[in-house]
Order: sequence, then structure tokens, then C-alpha cells
Amino acid sequence: MDVMKSERNKTIFISNGYKFRFHKMLKNEVQRWTCSLSTCKCYMKINDSNTVIDSFEDHKHNKPDEKTLNRQKLSNSLKRKAVEDINILTLITHYYYY
Ligand SMILES: [Zn+2]
Repeated sequence: MDVMKSERNKTIFISNGYKFRFHKMLKNEVQRWTCSLSTCKCYMKINDSNTVIDSFEDHKHNKPDEKTLNRQKLSNSLKRKAVEDINILTLITHYYYY
């Protein structure tokens, strides 16, 4: 399982190539995570020691392709640095437009 940050700096889990976003806290410190595609019914439940205790992963849609995910990871980490370094922000602008 992989973890990355979304555009809005929210944590996203990657499981089997699919993205999951935090949905809500359940009882006993259990977190419920749902597929990033809102129409998809898939979910994961993770307890306070970060163990998946329950999941439903029957996605009826294609997973985001690996290259897109990697590019998102890269651009998100660049964006965080950009807060400190305006020069990198220029680079990112180029990155997006070309
Ligand atoms: Zn899904």
C-alpha cells in the first residue's frame, strides 16, 4: 500500500493501483476509506495500528494508470517545495503547460 498527497494536501491511499480517500472515523479508532471515484462502492477499514481489517475491492472501473499516479506524486512534492522556493514554481508552470 502506498500513500500520497492529493491536490488539497489530503492523504490518499493507493491499494492495488486504486486511490482511496478518507471517508470517516468509525468506532474504536477505525478509519473508513472509500475509493476516490465517488460512484464506486469500494472501501477499506483501517484500525489504529494501520492494519486493514476489512475491505471491499471490487472496482467496476479502470484503475488510474501508473504514469498518472507517479506524475501526481512528483508534482505534489514539487508543489510543496514551491511554497518555499518561487523559482520551482516557475518550473512547475512549465511542467504543466508543455
Ligand atoms: Zn473503485
